[in-house]
Amino acid sequence: MVFLGPPGSGKGTQAVRLAAAKEMVHLSTGEFLREAVKAGTELGRKIEEHINRGELIPDDLIIDLIENKVAGGEFSGGVILDGFPRTIPQAKSLKKMLAKNEIGLDRAILFAVSDEEIVKRLSGRWYCPQCNAGYNYPVAVPKTEGICDHDGVTLKRRPDDEEAVVRNRLDIYKEQTRPIEDFYRTESILTEIVAEDSPDNIFARLMEAVC
Ligand code: AMP
Repeated sequence: MVFLGPPGSGKGTQAVRLAAAKEMVHLSTGEFLREAVKAGTELGRKIEEHINRGELIPDDLIIDLIENKVAGGEFSGGVILDGFPRTIPQAKSLKKMLAKNEIGLDRAILFAVSDEEIVKRLSGRWYCPQCNAGYNYPVAVPKTEGICDHDGVTLKRRPDDEEAVVRNRLDIYKEQTRPIEDFYRTESILTEIVAEDSPDNIFARLMEAVC
């Protein structure tokens, strides 16, 4: 299954919940790439600037990475792809690699949210650098301002959640990722979910769509 939607559409949150409910693997390419940057791997050094500017990393790097995972059997038990594909060349490569490995793509779920709601959501987004817990002002605030409820560590913001970078990410989404919506619409596997509601209500809609 592929999850599509602009940054801040809540697709990551919903992917975690659906993966747990359906016993599927959740693969967030953004999370994987941020880990590579944190670990200072060769890949991490190559992509850090792209990520911090809110730009996509080059197609060949991300396609190689996904290809290795498919070849390594990581998709065989069912996967939710959160953040891949993000360009038409990525979508076409995914189609080819799945066909080669006789894996079906059941559905592409599009989480639809307006630009203004996205800017509002991302400028209120904080996370704990130790346990990765997420917070969102004003709906999910920590008990003590700026401190993680679980381990007392000072909360941080992703550098690409600054407003100017968010607007850049939205422009890139419209230019490079939105055409994928039509790609999957043409294949009759796109389901659109209006994602401006509580996470519980959106999850209920998602479960209805996939069951
Ligand atoms: P995300 O956490 O999904 O918002 O991704 C964070 C950042 O990781 C993006 O802004 C890109 O720089 C990079 N990234 C994640 N997935 C991809 C992808 N499929 N293609 C290119 N860059 C990606």
